[in-house]
Amino acid sequence: MFTKVLIANRGEIALRVIRACRELGVATVAVYSEADRESLHVRFADDDVCIGPAPARDSYLRIPRLIAAAEITGADAIHPGYGFLAENAEFAETCAASGITFIGPTPHQIRTMGDKSAARAAMIANGVPVVPGSPGPVESVDEALEWAEKMGFPVIIKASAGGGGKGMRVARDVDDLAKSFQVARAEALSAFGNGSVYVEKYLQRPRHVEFQILGDTHGTVIHLGERDCSVQRRHQKLVEESPCPVMTPDLRARMGEAAVKGAKAIDYVGAGTVEMLLDEDGAFYFMEMNTRIQVEHPVTEMITGVDLVKEQLRVAAGEKLSISETPAMRGHVIECRVNAEDPARNFQPSPGRIDVFHMPGGNGVRVDTHAYAGYHVPPYYDSMIAKLIVHGHDRAEALAKMRLALDTFIIQGVTTTIPFLGKLMDHPKFVSGDVHTKFLEQEGADLFL
Ligand code: ADP
Repeated sequence: MFTKVLIANRGEIALRVIRACRELGVATVAVYSEADRESLHVRFADDDVCIGPAPARDSYLRIPRLIAAAEITGADAIHPGYGFLAENAEFAETCAASGITFIGPTPHQIRTMGDKSAARAAMIANGVPVVPGSPGPVESVDEALEWAEKMGFPVIIKASAGGGGKGMRVARDVDDLAKSFQVARAEALSAFGNGSVYVEKYLQRPRHVEFQILGDTHGTVIHLGERDCSVQRRHQKLVEESPCPVMTPDLRARMGEAAVKGAKAIDYVGAGTVEMLLDEDGAFYFMEMNTRIQVEHPVTEMITGVDLVKEQLRVAAGEKLSISETPAMRGHVIECRVNAEDPARNFQPSPGRIDVFHMPGGNGVRVDTHAYAGYHVPPYYDSMIAKLIVHGHDRAEALAKMRLALDTFIIQGVTTTIPFLGKLMDHPKFVSGDVHTKFLEQEGADLFL
């Protein structure tokens, strides 16, 4: 095992990794920007290093500063968390070149899955179903049109380098296509410095169902069941749950097998997630693989009892996974992301000082947060301030627990999405589990007020 791990991240995930390290007897190093001086991850780590000014490009994204911080503090491994440099192959390479273990997959695995069109090709070659579409990038509107006509409208133009919902545009008809193509391409170029795009059939009412994967360097690759992340706004997840409300043992076996096949195609090592779309007719398709720990990982932790971050540390240290097959899933888990945002104002961020902070608790309630009374939510980063996760014997009990937990989660000083989430837990469609990725946009207008 490592002696000291540097966490190249901030917020709740930095705390999450510190806890896992502590439990394993591993020392920790926090890095922080000038805006995060008062953060809990700085206080709870054994060592800390300021790596620059507030903007992420001057601090959390500066590879040389992170490597220097690791060298100065004698860290022998770096955990990247999620976001920032977590899926940056160059960072993984630089760590290796500096004699520091990157806690994650190999640069090659990150690269293959980071390029959506390359990932699609790898899946096709290994017999994993992908959304019908162009086998590789398309170079012109005419080429996109050829594919669109072959599959039928609507289609979605996607950036090969895409992520975080950027560089995606839907085209409903021929007229739309030219515009969507240009916009997707321009957005991809400015967000990722790579204008490569491809075309996919656009599914009308799919569910987003993803499988948690763990792989080690001893040849084991397993899945740990699914998470349904269909409640989204602008392709960003707001609520996740497990099991998926429409899952059956047979469907889980088939989707899980496809997910493992996809991960095995690149000999995946570490924690990763295979994201799939489950169509209304029961067909499912590989969408992408995220090569990192995800925001919603506690859902899987609570339903399986497996500590995913500790598994990441074990695997990176060359040890075997603590489990060799898919663990049992017990009960039902729901996670809500609490953001400092104003739903009535188009989810505009609401940074500022948190004056009152009271967390819910009780049997089967978990809160992952870096916030506290007196904490200033900085305007520079993601606006998520807490994750609230509840575990019930069944979905009805989990829903009841979530309603109560949201009711007793008191945050004053900044506007949060808690009231919105509370209303969502009472929405008839959500209560019956009858949702799809466009549910909020099409039927959730009342919830935002
Ligand atoms: P990102 O990497 O930016 O998160 P994804 O490829 O994971 O992008 O897609 C994010 C979301 O976009 C999905 O969860 C789904 O809601 C929607 N989406 C992506 N591809 C399709 C498609 N072919 N049909 C319908 N919805 C899609």
